[in-house]
Amino acid sequence: MNKPKYIFVTGGVTSSLGKGIISASLARLLQAQGLNVSIQKLDPYINVDPGTLNPYEHGECYVTEDGAETDLDLGHYERFLSINTSQRNNVTTGKIYQNVIEKERKGEFLGKTVQVIPHITNEIKENIRNLNHKNNLDVIITEIGGTVGDIESLPFLEAVRQVVYEEGPDNSMVIHLTLIPFLSATGELKTKPTQHSVKTLMELGLKADVLVCRTERELSDEIKNKLALFCNVKFDCVIQSIDVETIYDVPIKMMEEGLDKVTLEKLKIKETEPNLDKWKNFLHKLKNPTHQINIGLVGKYIELSDSYKSILESLIHAGTENEVKVNVKSIHSEHIERENIGKHMSDLDGIIVAPGFGQRGLDGKILAVEYARVNKIPFLGICLGMQMAVIEYARNVKKIRYANSTEISEKCKDPVIDLMTSQKEIINMGGTMRLGAWDCELSKNTIAHKVYKKKLISERHRHRYEFNNKYSKTIFDDKFIIAGLNPDTKLVEIIENTDHPWFVGVQFHPEYKSSVYNPHPIFVNFVKASLKKYLNK
Ligand code: GLN
Repeated sequence: MNKPKYIFVTGGVTSSLGKGIISASLARLLQAQGLNVSIQKLDPYINVDPGTLNPYEHGECYVTEDGAETDLDLGHYERFLSINTSQRNNVTTGKIYQNVIEKERKGEFLGKTVQVIPHITNEIKENIRNLNHKNNLDVIITEIGGTVGDIESLPFLEAVRQVVYEEGPDNSMVIHLTLIPFLSATGELKTKPTQHSVKTLMELGLKADVLVCRTERELSDEIKNKLALFCNVKFDCVIQSIDVETIYDVPIKMMEEGLDKVTLEKLKIKETEPNLDKWKNFLHKLKNPTHQINIGLVGKYIELSDSYKSILESLIHAGTENEVKVNVKSIHSEHIERENIGKHMSDLDGIIVAPGFGQRGLDGKILAVEYARVNKIPFLGICLGMQMAVIEYARNVKKIRYANSTEISEKCKDPVIDLMTSQKEIINMGGTMRLGAWDCELSKNTIAHKVYKKKLISERHRHRYEFNNKYSKTIFDDKFIIAGLNPDTKLVEIIENTDHPWFVGVQFHPEYKSSVYNPHPIFVNFVKASLKKYLNK
């Protein structure tokens, strides 16, 4: 049995410093040493999972193969590491309490008073160790959400303290990600906030072994020495993390700064020559594009790029594969009207209509689909985007004037998109959509079949509504076709318009499965078609 080593990543001074990217980068470097690594995120909020959170609150909800609705950091883990994560990789306070309360109701605590310590902390420890349920991991990286000092993360940090104590100094370590602000008035980098947050950690019984310091400016040796002395870490363990051009630079930067070296030393793992050729090759292609194309992303959560994180990253992977830079133009669907659509879209080489929920901004999405269809601009509709493509075709080509989705109008005359039968009785909103990996069988002579190069595929889902098969005969014809069906339920998974250079709508989310090493074929091919459109201008 493998006994894994444990790395805990905590955050100091402020949130949004990029713990997820640092964790994923370190994991990538450890993978390059031939180690089997996985990462998990512990989130201190009370939602059982982020599935019920508005993207404005928490960014995109990422979905794993096993159908867990998770924090978007899991997307980074999968994209950096080419591993599949699962519900074990994201645990919230809500989930911990739910488990403990369920056990209490079953009488599992044998009459004891159930308390934060030891019951909640034990549950957290169990969830940390359970990541190694297959006994195949050499290293487990656990990222603690929030900032040290928050009331709500206290039980997590206490559980970390206990795991560090139990595993011992050679088998566990704490990396503290912190901010070194630059004061332009005095022209100085300031270490005091970091000193305070390291002290807060110490009050909780945790010693930072490594400081990863986010900074806009180079840290001098003098500053590093000061941080080392006052924060009780070795000089080599003060790692600078300066702002970089792309998140994909971070693993290489961290290697240059020696984060992998000090980690291996601390955990008594023998260092070998890292293998990062493929990663470096990706970076080289990313930074040396031959062309630039414009892709429009039509959605309603446009103000925050985190809301469509996986789509944006998939476009970077696909652009790199095609050696083009993809400029993403975010277009708010509520701003699109027939009169101004040309202004929004005439410079686009490709159009994506994004996933989403609820009624807001749907008219703009339908107009965007029409614009792509009529002007023969490569089009990719994802989930809600695919549903809007069906409604657009039904209304504008098949002249079914009142074609709609029952998500928008419950009593509409022609519900071409309708609630799945399995969803009709559902009352609870959390974790009850059609989630995770489902099979899809592709039809021959379709773009999808050409792109995937196989007949049976599996993709991740997150939806309640579907194409209403009662309308199959009315809507589909030789130009608007079903390109993929679920083999068991006959649920429509992919539609295509054959009277168009590249028009594909998918009920699933290909963006959840694109990674640096395996860019998703749908995105790669969509970008290729958009490049073709650009070159033919
Ligand atoms: N709201 C739609 C549904 O539930 C689409 C969901 C999505 O785009 N992820 O079916």
